[in-house]
Amino acid sequence: MSTFSELKIKAIKAFGNFGAWVFDEWKKLNDTFFYGENIVGEIIWGSTPQDRSLGYYSPDENLIVLHKTLMRPVYPTSDLKWEFRHLNKRKARDVLLHEMIHQRIHQTGGWEGENSHNNKQFVNEVNRIAKLLNIDIKAKVIQRETVHDKTLPCVEPRCLNLKELSNFPYSSRSPNYYYGNLKC
Ligand SMILES: [Zn+2]
Repeated sequence: MSTFSELKIKAIKAFGNFGAWVFDEWKKLNDTFFYGENIVGEIIWGSTPQDRSLGYYSPDENLIVLHKTLMRPVYPTSDLKWEFRHLNKRKARDVLLHEMIHQRIHQTGGWEGENSHNNKQFVNEVNRIAKLLNIDIKAKVIQRETVHDKTLPCVEPRCLNLKELSNFPYSSRSPNYYYGNLKC
């Protein structure tokens, strides 16, 4: 197993400033939200399976992937180069935090439930972290209800739906959170 410094050096070789930044952020988030207890693994900028999500965690490899589109701003017509100064740090940080929830759950016994988001362990983490972030949301495991042969998710009032749960915390930020001061 590689140390934090070894992995960070490797990331800097591959991704320059992006590599250094993501390891420094991982460490800060680990101390702030996970009692410094997550065990570090590789963190890379690349593609996620089918490009379906902005981040990905592979439990087998203890690998976090941040989607490379996070490296550039979200102006639709932008042809800006992927320079570090353009990185939407708030967005990338939230995606990293999400993947670190998966990392923590995997490293503390795993989850049991419908999928990696709709389960007791993930929901508990979302509620715990939302409080620390001052985000006023509530998450509960979503049960399925069968109505006329159709199975439908049954979201309790004022609770996150499956999509919001799968995209926490970026689904729950105020609309302009990512477009404010991008320097921090
Ligand atoms: Zn996830």
